[in-house]
Amino acid sequence: MTADDLKPLIRAIPDFPKPGILFRDVTTLIGHGAGFAAATRLLADRARAVGADVIAGIEARGFIFGAAVAARLELPFVPVRKPGKLPVPVLAIDYALEYGTDTLEVDPDAIAEGQKVVVIDDLIATGGTALAAVELLRRAGGVVTEALFVIDLPDLGGADRLRAAGLTVEALMDFE
Ligand code: 5GP
Repeated sequence: MTADDLKPLIRAIPDFPKPGILFRDVTTLIGHGAGFAAATRLLADRARAVGADVIAGIEARGFIFGAAVAARLELPFVPVRKPGKLPVPVLAIDYALEYGTDTLEVDPDAIAEGQKVVVIDDLIATGGTALAAVELLRRAGGVVTEALFVIDLPDLGGADRLRAAGLTVEALMDFE
């Protein structure tokens, strides 16, 4: 399967999580064995090509794809977690949402200084989540130059924001 074959496996859910939002649901992709395998392979090919030492995934759907990529490449997987989940003292970063703020946390010992980290999430919209994760992983000692997504929503500008921050950004598919 190619990336083009994967697009029909994404389900669109109107008015989730609130009215007016068209949610792109990846559970139908991961529920398709060959589709999930292909998505993982395509992301892993890219992570291998850029010489990743570590794969980081953003909670929660970034764990699904990121962990599968890491296992495929036999690389370490680092979870970028929502607050209060890690059992050790953490590095944390707050970032702005449309209303309010959110926080991401990482184990400060998870990455050795200078390791090349590829960050993976299911979807990039405004880029706020991914930018916060990149900043946090850099503070943890990682060299983060590549972000990979299953889905990009280019109209929301997130990939451009990441590129302006010096990252290479790739996604398996776009939705207007
Ligand atoms: P951003 O911070 O780029 O605005 O939003 C991206 C984050 O929100 C990602 O962690 C992603 O999982 C989640 N997200 C936002 N909209 C959607 C969507 O339509 N579908 C999915 N699967 N995740 C979304």
